[in-house]
Amino acid sequence: MQVAFSADNAPADEAPYYLPSGNEVEVFTAAYRQHLPLMLKGPTGCGKTRFVEHMAARLGRSLITVACHEDITAADLVGRYLLQGGDTVWVDGPLTRAVRSGAICYLDEVVEARADTTVVIHPLADHRRELILERRAEQLTAHPYFMLVLSYNPGYQSVLKDLKQSTRQRMVGIELGYPPAEREHQILVREGGVSEAQATDLIKLAQAIRQLDASLLPEVCSTRTLVSTAHLIQAGLSPRVAATAAMLQPLCDDAVVQQGLREVVETYL
Ligand code: ADP
Repeated sequence: MQVAFSADNAPADEAPYYLPSGNEVEVFTAAYRQHLPLMLKGPTGCGKTRFVEHMAARLGRSLITVACHEDITAADLVGRYLLQGGDTVWVDGPLTRAVRSGAICYLDEVVEARADTTVVIHPLADHRRELILERRAEQLTAHPYFMLVLSYNPGYQSVLKDLKQSTRQRMVGIELGYPPAEREHQILVREGGVSEAQATDLIKLAQAIRQLDASLLPEVCSTRTLVSTAHLIQAGLSPRVAATAAMLQPLCDDAVVQQGLREVVETYL
């Protein structure tokens, strides 16, 4: 069944700002229309969350986001019985609310969640589009507008490894990386409010750091840390101080590596 759109043509400029790097807007839209769940792959801070916020607004759907962490269980997603004023009442979890109301449910960093979450994701992500509320002995068929979106960093150990190939293969995948230099430049000017020249210097610095030997750093600086650096510059810090605080400090704690990185900063800013 095709989804009928109420707000298919909502202007992109009314949605949270997102500058695409490729055909991700088209792929997301097609997956939504065809009731296919989506996996967004990419390193932290590359724009996955912003992309989903943008698409939810463009498609006119509400967005229910769950920031997954190691203590998130299936019950946290689905719901549980709680005591309220002496009564036991069922309270829907965020996934159940999305399934009932036809929202987009975004499980951010799903790799972090407990393995038992796959039990609820399976029937929802395959052709059945069903959510099983085991405790209530109830089975819900997802609202036609419901969409499941998962994000993860392929470098990490993954709950997705526990998803059956049959489920994974029903999912549509989009790989997002850090945007190309000229796009990241536009994002910095628009999101971070820095001048064209400052944006150019920050991008050169980021590229230099991203080319460093991968054994030195577990992650490299993300678009998010570039935007944060721009915000600190906006708040009155010098570019060097801003970049040290927002780009270098989050990267690692090793004093020798930090010193090396500071020298890189001084070369570019
Ligand atoms: P992720 O979910 O991948 O960790 P986010 O979506 O939170 O990353 O992105 C971090 C920040 O980077 C956003 O808040 C936004 O300021 C900026 N950003 C990254 N990519 C884009 C993009 N393509 N268009 C607009 N802003 C972006």
